[in-house]
Amino acid sequence: MLKYSTTKSKILLHICCGTCALYPYFLLKQDFDITFFYYNPNIHPEEEYIKRLKCVKMISKKYSIPLSVGKYEVKKWFRLTRDLKDEPEGGSRCSLCFRMRLDKTADTAKKQGFDLFGTTLTISPHKNYKIINSLGLELASKKGINFYQADFKKMDGFKKTIQLSKELNLYRQNYCGCIYSKR
Ligand code: SF4
Repeated sequence: MLKYSTTKSKILLHICCGTCALYPYFLLKQDFDITFFYYNPNIHPEEEYIKRLKCVKMISKKYSIPLSVGKYEVKKWFRLTRDLKDEPEGGSRCSLCFRMRLDKTADTAKKQGFDLFGTTLTISPHKNYKIINSLGLELASKKGINFYQADFKKMDGFKKTIQLSKELNLYRQNYCGCIYSKR
């Protein structure tokens, strides 16, 4: 007789803000046991970082989603990207920024015994899912953990997450996160 496992895989899902987390959460929750991971030293100024975190906490409470918050390693982020201030959004500064956040997510997932890690970053129409997925896979193979590949913007994912965010009356920022994108 075939045996089926009833336990869901545990995923540590990196999220950048409440709005971007909503649609991926509803999409994945049937199949995964989700924990949110807010690790975003790329968000400036700090008041903005806190504003987005507050939103995330609100969603986490509303839907009973466990939330882990990483350190706000803003100096490390600025050191990493200091030579790339003038890069356009989508350029090499963004790839470093994705890598830093995915690297921390992978390490945390591995340390805390998750089956896999992922990120909601691909929901943004401004972000290249191929770059994000290839970084995720590279880090996964280096660290010996699985990565959930996705392109959440597909099938109107971005539109849907904005709609959900409007329904909850969530704060929605008008720039990606760093001071360079704010300019
Ligand atoms: S534009 Fe966004 S992804 Fe790119 S470096 Fe700034 S915060 Fe990171």
